[in-house]
Amino acid sequence: MIIAIDGPAASGKGTLAKRVAEHFGYACLDTGLLYRAVARDVARQGFRLEDIWAAIAAARGLDPASFDDPALRGTAAGDAASIVARIPVVRAALLTYQRDFARRPPGAVLDGRDIGTIVCPDADVKIFVTATPEIRAKRRFTEFEARGDTVAYETVLADILVRDARDSGRPNAPMAQAADAMLLDTSNLSIEAAFDAVVGLIKRKIGP
Ligand code: C5P
Repeated sequence: MIIAIDGPAASGKGTLAKRVAEHFGYACLDTGLLYRAVARDVARQGFRLEDIWAAIAAARGLDPASFDDPALRGTAAGDAASIVARIPVVRAALLTYQRDFARRPPGAVLDGRDIGTIVCPDADVKIFVTATPEIRAKRRFTEFEARGDTVAYETVLADILVRDARDSGRPNAPMAQAADAMLLDTSNLSIEAAFDAVVGLIKRKIGP
């Protein structure tokens, strides 16, 4: 069973993916971590994120054991990831790891931007999670506030819009809803309601 959950930054797809995986006892892969780790490794080696050869080398030498690195969290790491994620050979270098992960028995949940379209076009269940940019920015802003970070809401919204444009505007594997994916708009939905909707969809797929 392969479950593909795609969507933009701060749409809630990561939380949803983890909860769904936990519920069904499936493995879970946040594929954004791969791109974040590539960007981290490029920067650590002293190269610019736009350096295609450095990014390709980092992608080819990626160590999955480093995915729980706290340096991969946060908006700056996500922005850096979206720069290296534009490079087609970087994306190609990360495909095998993602596809092997997807085949883990009894099932796997992968969340990202191109899971339903490129990584696992044959996924059993595909969901595209979204919410308005304003609501996503509000969620991020509330998280920042709770941590005591002082960032203006307008800045958070502007960052989200830049990232959306970069991810959906790139020519290679842009963020997109697969033709056969269910659209889940969480703008006015609690995480509980979104979770119930996804669980219902999966149960219909796997049967009683
Ligand atoms: O999901 P997350 O915010 O961690 O992703 C960081 C960045 O990595 C995204 O903005 C996107 O550019 C890239 N990414 C991607 N394809 C994926 C997952 C993430 O291009 N499947």
